[in-house]
Amino acid sequence: MDDRRSGRRREAAELLAALERQAPFPGAPRVGLTGSPGAGKSTLLDALVRRLRARGETVAIIAVDPSSQKSGGALLGDRIRVRSAAGDPGVFFRSMAARERLGGLADATRAGSLVLAAAFDRVFVETVGVGQSEMEVASLVDTLVYLVNPGSGDTLQFMKAGLLELPDLFAVNKADLGAEAERTASELASGLGLARSGAEWTPPVLRISARDGTGVDALVDALDAHWQHLVRSDALRERRRRGRDAFVRKALEHRYGSHGLEQLGGPKAIALRLAERRDAACFALVDELGREIEESLQKSR
Ligand code: GDP
Repeated sequence: MDDRRSGRRREAAELLAALERQAPFPGAPRVGLTGSPGAGKSTLLDALVRRLRARGETVAIIAVDPSSQKSGGALLGDRIRVRSAAGDPGVFFRSMAARERLGGLADATRAGSLVLAAAFDRVFVETVGVGQSEMEVASLVDTLVYLVNPGSGDTLQFMKAGLLELPDLFAVNKADLGAEAERTASELASGLGLARSGAEWTPPVLRISARDGTGVDALVDALDAHWQHLVRSDALRERRRRGRDAFVRKALEHRYGSHGLEQLGGPKAIALRLAERRDAACFALVDELGREIEESLQKSR
């Protein structure tokens, strides 16, 4: 990498680290919304934004599209996707396509949500459910909502992929379609009963209709309840720390490969380093450990 680029990256890391250090805790709730294409994510966001705006909250949305290579035309698309955002300064909407496919999107999403959480009352990160992206978004947000398309077989795939552990809230959409939605919700509830017995927080399975608004208020209540649970039990700090650690590891691996990670002494040594630096900002840590890896690689040349 050339010096200018790495210099700029360092400056950005410093700015983000300063922001992270100075941000009040707990700050704005960060909510992930995931679900397969066509599940109703943008329809739901539109409904959520209307409700949250009606009670005076400002809302920022980052829509991550890991499959799209294009970034052009996003603005026009955005306006169509979340109608309630048009012309309202209390709503921010930005979609991010996978311009730089590997790793870059995770960086940009994390940086974006950090900045937006400083300026808005609530931040949503919308992502298409394709396995990997759930993992990434789960490490970024405080609450993960999985929006289920009834009758699509999504639930089964989700279970098979071992992703049932991730969401804090399930919303089966299109309840207006009747029996199909009801069946999907019951399947999900019984699947969850097996997967999660004894957990501190039991993820509710809500039936909603993003289109006619049924259950959207209950979803907002459930979001608030999960946030209260996190803040009261102090689980939020731990969760954000785990998310930070996952991000740092991934970012270093992406940048330097497994050979790079070995320069730090391998997974156990890295876990120890992260634990020692419990309160360090994530971008600063990536920068600091990255420099160490670079030095070590140079020496061994
Ligand atoms: P996304 O790809 O997850 O963002 O899904 P969209 O919000 O674009 O919705 C996909 C399609 O499902 C659109 O045709 C919506 O009008 C429709 N849709 C969304 N929510 C509902 C709902 O609650 N009920 C019904 N019947 N259709 C819905």
